[in-house]
Amino acid sequence: MQNKIKNSKVDVEYLYIILPYIKQFNKYCGLCVRNCTFGVTNDDHHQLLRCKLYCAGRPICPFKCSVIVGNNGGGHIIVTDTTIRHPRGTKISRPIRQPIRSLLKKQFANGASVYRVYQERLQKRTVEERKANNYDSTGKSRNILRKIKSEGITESLLAPDVDQALSKLYGKFQDEVNADGKIKGAIQQISKYPCQIIVFTESSIRLFDTLMKHQNVVLSWDATGSIIQEKQNSRRLLYYELSITLPGIVTEDSIIPITFMISDAHALVNVIHWIELFKYSYSQVNIYISFRLHSISDFLFRCLLVDHFRVLELY
Ligand SMILES: [Zn+2]
Repeated sequence: MQNKIKNSKVDVEYLYIILPYIKQFNKYCGLCVRNCTFGVTNDDHHQLLRCKLYCAGRPICPFKCSVIVGNNGGGHIIVTDTTIRHPRGTKISRPIRQPIRSLLKKQFANGASVYRVYQERLQKRTVEERKANNYDSTGKSRNILRKIKSEGITESLLAPDVDQALSKLYGKFQDEVNADGKIKGAIQQISKYPCQIIVFTESSIRLFDTLMKHQNVVLSWDATGSIIQEKQNSRRLLYYELSITLPGIVTEDSIIPITFMISDAHALVNVIHWIELFKYSYSQVNIYISFRLHSISDFLFRCLLVDHFRVLELY
């Protein structure tokens, strides 16, 4: 396992640069690097790069060559064995390395499925690659792409543990978002019991205040919570959002979230706490305009009480 991780970090970016040239002579093999030296300069040589290439189908496929690229950009390919032999039914594939690995991770991060990426890359194989059972672009099976996808997910996590990752994200935002302002960061509160995350920024408070001065502003408050996670053996998470839009000025789709809360608690007290925290931070940003928010929040609370009269009865 350790070897696999070590291998996946091998930097063969230069191979992807020289491959299109080599492919003009050998369109069939899954070429891999055996050894490579950079920058050999003496009286006889002025070499930028020297490497030996072999086929991933070795030892059955004995093709071998050396590539020498000079400092002047010129190059030589010396083929020491020209035989290409790929038995039927045996897939030939070079390992997928950087920068292709990063490109794939980006595609997966943007929502592409392993199935679709595999099919697309499969379709793009050349006639020669198909004839030679060459699967350089996809790997020998979809599992290779699955592994790259999960690698990408693991790399994107700040920590393997959710609580630790959230704490790191909190710190990251504190450092990067409005670090010198009155309201720092974006995550304003994290609690575990109840599981609750409250998010807004100083910019979102200021935008809210600016837009509220317009007459036709539409304030949209999802205080009932939409389910964003409902799994067996884990807590049900709800998403609450206060958003704003200005018809005629911004397009209909441009509903801007001002603050949101993710919570596993669906009680009035939690919703009130969220808005109270927003209201408090608003007053910190500008104490002179806090009266406006005060009247708005009173209005919101009245709506909340009407909407949640059944919940209210419990209290
Ligand atoms: Zn070969």
